[in-house]
Amino acid sequence: MKVADLDFEPLINAEAIEKRVKAIGAQLNEDYKDTKPLFVGVLNGSFLFIADLIKQIEIPCEITFTKLASYYGGTKSTLKIRDDIDLSVDIKGRDILIIEDIVDTGNTAHYLIEKLKLKEPKSIKLCSLLLKPASLKIKIEELKYVGFEIANDFVVGYGLDYQEMGRHLKDIYKKV
Ligand code: 5GP
Repeated sequence: MKVADLDFEPLINAEAIEKRVKAIGAQLNEDYKDTKPLFVGVLNGSFLFIADLIKQIEIPCEITFTKLASYYGGTKSTLKIRDDIDLSVDIKGRDILIIEDIVDTGNTAHYLIEKLKLKEPKSIKLCSLLLKPASLKIKIEELKYVGFEIANDFVVGYGLDYQEMGRHLKDIYKKV
């Protein structure tokens, strides 16, 4: 399958994603049952994951979004992270769960967590659909929920893009 100029092959199908998202949702319902968590979705790549995950939540919660990216259309993680963390909600004293599409080097997640910590939340945890353990450069203590651990492949689909293409795909594909 082609996305822009690159070839991709299937990695994780929609059924497996759905099953895993349901399991994470059930875990969150349990772990956050006595709190009113604030979910912070990191756009754009996690938009489908956020939508599917949030539908599994049965406890009172709030959802807000922020946007930052380190890829800028290529297939290699760059360290240039945009400094535009824009949160419309006051997170002081709140239980925060960041929802990410993928943790690769960990730089983006680390940067976001450190920025949010300055705003004095009660707790802060991270939920990522995908994790590339072999690529991780920083240990992220807050990473408590992971959908799938994958190899160091470049992936698209289910919200993730290559040059803004492929976000609509139901399955996740890896670069051949
Ligand atoms: P990190 O800062 O952990 O290196 O990279 C995190 C960000 O890089 C993710 O939020 C995502 O936007 C992008 N990224 C990392 N790996 C991939 C990948 O395999 N495919 C796509 N489409 N984006 C990725």
